[in-house]
Amino acid sequence: MTAEPGAILTVDPAAVVANWRLLAARAAPGAVAAVVKADAYGLGAAALAPALAAAGCRQFFVATPDEALALRPLLPGAFLAVLGGVWPGAEADFIAADIVPVLNELGEVDRWRAAARAAGRALPALLHVDTGMSRLGLDAAELAVLAADPGRLVGIDLRYVMTHLLAAECPDDPANAEQGARFAAACAVLPPVPRSFANSSGLFLGAAFASDLARPGAALWGINPTPGQANPMRQVARLQARVLAVRGVPSGATVGYNATFTAARATRIATVAIGYADGWRRALSNTGAAGFDGARVPLVGRVSMDLTTFDVTDQPGVRPGVWLDLIGPGQDVDAVAAAAGTNGYEILTGLGPRIARRYGSL
Ligand SMILES: *Cc1c(COP(=O)(O)O)cnc(C)c1O
Repeated sequence: MTAEPGAILTVDPAAVVANWRLLAARAAPGAVAAVVKADAYGLGAAALAPALAAAGCRQFFVATPDEALALRPLLPGAFLAVLGGVWPGAEADFIAADIVPVLNELGEVDRWRAAARAAGRALPALLHVDTGMSRLGLDAAELAVLAADPGRLVGIDLRYVMTHLLAAECPDDPANAEQGARFAAACAVLPPVPRSFANSSGLFLGAAFASDLARPGAALWGINPTPGQANPMRQVARLQARVLAVRGVPSGATVGYNATFTAARATRIATVAIGYADGWRRALSNTGAAGFDGARVPLVGRVSMDLTTFDVTDQPGVRPGVWLDLIGPGQDVDAVAAAAGTNGYEILTGLGPRIARRYGSL
């Protein structure tokens, strides 16, 4: 028998598909991949990547070889690329499973070319050029070396040249245009292959950024790609946690570790089965909230490892066994992130394994 979970994350694959279609319409005639790294940002790649493939998405990106190997059987025939590249020793796995590396430095180009020679056939790859992130991708010196010696790409079936935006969610940041110019300059000295540029927010910067293949992740999962403006994406996830206990405390009573909340009136406290071990962040202590029946109930006291307390004095319907909405109607993932002092990416990817995942309408 399976015990009932303390918290449930419901994800709607149809809403994810709707978001992908919206982005695909924006990017046309360019194509739109799905970035499903980190288990589709915590929402479940095994369920969501096949739903996107069924809707017509043909290109997928993950971060690590293991993520790609796990998804390969679920995405037959799809272009499946690893952003982190082909680590030394992983070449055979990539070739056997038809996984495409993003080549992030010159030594990796050389290793992939050697693997192609050994395999006796051309091997597909993307080439990443760094235009400002200083993280992965060929730097200016490596690019110059490669441009002067195109033989280093022999045997590599170069599908795309790509780069990554560092501040796409800030449309006024001059870095966007600077990266666009650097990317164009880099592409001019490389073989004329399709380009991959925009992430989610980049798709909202203008046609030049969409390129031949956009790589959105966050927007597929409902995170606002245009912070400060209305969210054009649909919400795809709802996080609910079970009320374990409700108690009345008198005015003056304190709640939780270190007594950071003192009741200013006779107060009903609901204790809920989620905590920072589940990714419901401790930074939400005394600032977060939940929803019940459309009303907001404030989070009071410290978030602890497995439990969180809410002031439900004004919600008499809250009793043991009911569920509070932590992400969902009334409080989207961006609102939770703002209260926690982080971004929606970190909230979603932090949701832990004790939270049951269910798929269906919200
Ligand atoms: C994570 C990632 C993306 C997706 O970015 P979002 O902001 O989630 O759309 C695209 N490209 C690269 C290289 C990434 O690392």
